[in-house]
Amino acid sequence: MAYAKAKKIYADTISQIRADGLYKEERVICSPQSGQIRVRFPADAPEKEIINLCANNYLGLSSHPDVIRAAHEGLDQRGYGMSSVRFICGTQDIHRELETRLSRFLGMEDAVLFSSCFDANGAVFEALLTAEDGIFSDKLVHASLIDGIRLSKAQRFVFEHSDMNDLENKLGSATCRLKLIVTDGVFSMDGDMAKMDQLAALAQKYDALLMTDESHASGFIGRTGRGVHEHFGVMDKIDIITTTFGKALGGAAGGAVCARREIVELLKQRGRPYLFSNSLPPPVVAATIRVLEILSQTTERRDKLERHTVFWRKALATAGFELKPGNTPIVPVMLYDAKVAQQMSRDLYDEGVFAVGFFFPVVAKGQARIRTQLSAALEQEHLDHALKAFIKIGRKHGVIR
Ligand SMILES: *Cc1c(COP(=O)(O)O)cnc(C)c1O
Repeated sequence: MAYAKAKKIYADTISQIRADGLYKEERVICSPQSGQIRVRFPADAPEKEIINLCANNYLGLSSHPDVIRAAHEGLDQRGYGMSSVRFICGTQDIHRELETRLSRFLGMEDAVLFSSCFDANGAVFEALLTAEDGIFSDKLVHASLIDGIRLSKAQRFVFEHSDMNDLENKLGSATCRLKLIVTDGVFSMDGDMAKMDQLAALAQKYDALLMTDESHASGFIGRTGRGVHEHFGVMDKIDIITTTFGKALGGAAGGAVCARREIVELLKQRGRPYLFSNSLPPPVVAATIRVLEILSQTTERRDKLERHTVFWRKALATAGFELKPGNTPIVPVMLYDAKVAQQMSRDLYDEGVFAVGFFFPVVAKGQARIRTQLSAALEQEHLDHALKAFIKIGRKHGVIR
């Protein structure tokens, strides 16, 4: 039995993960995704109604009736699946329509869809850069960018998080054919934004391309929700945007690279996840088109999210909690101690509030926190309830007085 040996190795690894206190357990949700959900935790416990402060459902669109209707229409009119990659027979009129609408929404020349933003980031670097080129990436970029960069043969330069001096030194001293600066628009663990205006200025000065992953920004950052490039007034200065449909833009699945025309064209020739992975399902494509229509018609949801963000940051700070500074709907409550973060998360759950603790290795050692995320699916009464729970549990653990 070949498996006996492997079984022991895997079981030991799992035991070690548990012993380190790093074992992750899934909460089972028995309702649609929303601001208030029904959850079983542990998985065999009875269902419980709780307020959800940890979804990436920023605009509350993942269960929006218009989005669901559009998905139904997509299903009825274009079928369930494509059974093909895009370039063989997986491209419908709606795939092209979504690419056109998305690039218009983000202010880019064209776009190419992928099954996920993870795949989009897996496609870009290998297809566009060679060993003669250099990638300059922020130390805290998302795992999918790190993996994508690893797939390419380009030289790698990692600059300290949002440290423009460090980036400038590296840009200045490197000799490469092409230089590409890579950042997240909004960093998911700290909730801070990249300094996109300064990045754009450095890109110009050192003749570098600028790429941002806007997964935690598309749809709600900036006055009309275009993203971090809109927030900083540099919409025309970005060469490549990657983003996901799995967060604010409906929350189902899918991602895209939006970029200059030749970049998109080349990705359709050379992007491996584009060439060797299935086309997005028609219901997802149709629903995402509808999401972009909704967001182009009104900023109501984005504005509501912004009001929630302002309220929540101010209320927690006034109560005495230490927050990571910023102005995005990702609001990390700093606790520093992994055990406190875990225990507080459990106690909050008992109070009807769903907010997960993060600790090493997801964040640096000694930087444990509870990350809260706001959503337009939440109502003020949810936030009032959650605030009371945070104050009660914060006092219990001596985090606030
Ligand atoms: C969530 C996320 C991704 C992955 O998106 P998927 O479409 O779920 O694969 C990529 N990049 C960043 C910055 C993210 O936050």
